Amino acid sequence: MAAAKIAILGAGLAGISAARALIARGHAVTIFDKGRGPGGRLATRRMEAAGRKLQFDHGAQYLRAEGAGFAAALVEAKAAPWPDATRRVGMPSMSAVPRALLGEIPCVASRHVGQITGRAGAWVLRHWDARLVRPGKPLPDVAPEEAGPFDAVLLTMPATQARDVLGQQAPSLAEALGAIRYAPCWTVMAAFDVPLALPETLRPEAHAIGWAARDSAKPGRNAGQENWVIQAGPAWTRAHLELPAEAIAQPLLAALATFSTTPLPAPFMVVAHRWRYSLLEAPLGEPCLWDATARIGYASDGCIGGRAEAAWDSGVALAARVLA
Ligand SMILES: Cc1cc2nc3c(=O)[nH]c(=O)nc-3n(C[C@H](O)[C@H](O)[C@H](O)COP(=O)(O)OP(=O)(O)OC[C@H]3O[C@@H](n4cnc5c(N)ncnc54)[C@H](O)[C@@H]3O)c2cc1C
Repeated sequence: MAAAKIAILGAGLAGISAARALIARGHAVTIFDKGRGPGGRLATRRMEAAGRKLQFDHGAQYLRAEGAGFAAALVEAKAAPWPDATRRVGMPSMSAVPRALLGEIPCVASRHVGQITGRAGAWVLRHWDARLVRPGKPLPDVAPEEAGPFDAVLLTMPATQARDVLGQQAPSLAEALGAIRYAPCWTVMAAFDVPLALPETLRPEAHAIGWAARDSAKPGRNAGQENWVIQAGPAWTRAHLELPAEAIAQPLLAALATFSTTPLPAPFMVVAHRWRYSLLEAPLGEPCLWDATARIGYASDGCIGGRAEAAWDSGVALAARVLA
């Protein structure tokens, strides 16, 4: 195959692994992402409160590699074991993993790709300043920028978002994406002045909380801080999905307090983040989708597994289909 110009939408693990495989075979790849940096759901939130610099891994909590490909990627990204030898985290933050794996691959950040126009083999992307785009609302009423033409376009965002971008292009691919379903997840980030009387991680069953962890205890973080990430379970999240973020922290902190042997102190900083797409509930059931006529493909954790490794493997699988 002659060197092709390929656009990848999404700089999460699926987009990055696809890009690396295609570049290794001589193709010219540009990634577009609506986020300020790469990583997608491998995310770290940084903020300042009470004169202190704080950080929280508020998306994926730890990474597990079962296959050799992802294991090698985690070694390359210098991920460190936590909370045990079988699981790893980015150093000094989870977002360091995608940043290291992206390397020098061209990535256009803070741009929301809203439409794919043109024709097979000559696709043009229309993209907007991501700050102007509101989830579930029409695209902004300002002229987009255009990029292209591209020989192929690969979409690597959660399936619902990918369908919005696809529009009428590749209709059978868009239809197949309808099978993928994700659970939402309310996540609270809280910083305390004193250590909580709690174990480093909690994963209760049938509880408002699905997972909670002392984020500042991960390797490479500021161990003098007491920063917690509290993730609600899917049932609790669904029941409270449309509440404003300000209404989320108090009930989840109260739920966390039930595990503490002493009353929970008030945090000096607390903020909630709503993930509309977190862990997978219904996968596609195949490693990726590739419409060879339209030259449009899809990869993500939604294809096979709902974990970071599945996203990585899906991107690799899609690159192989493009190259075949
Ligand atoms: C709260 C939470 C906890 C999790 N815990 C774990 C865990 O402990 N272990 C684990 O292995 N996995 C965990 N996961 C899942 C893991 O994060 C994902 O499986 C993996 O990161 C998915 O990678 P991806 O590349 O498929 O998608 P994403 O990481 O979602 O990447 C998609 C990218 O597309 C971009 N994008 C979307 N729409 C557009 C658009 N229109 N234009 C431009 N860019 C766009 C997004 O900004 C994003 O960067 C968790 C996820 C969440 C949310």
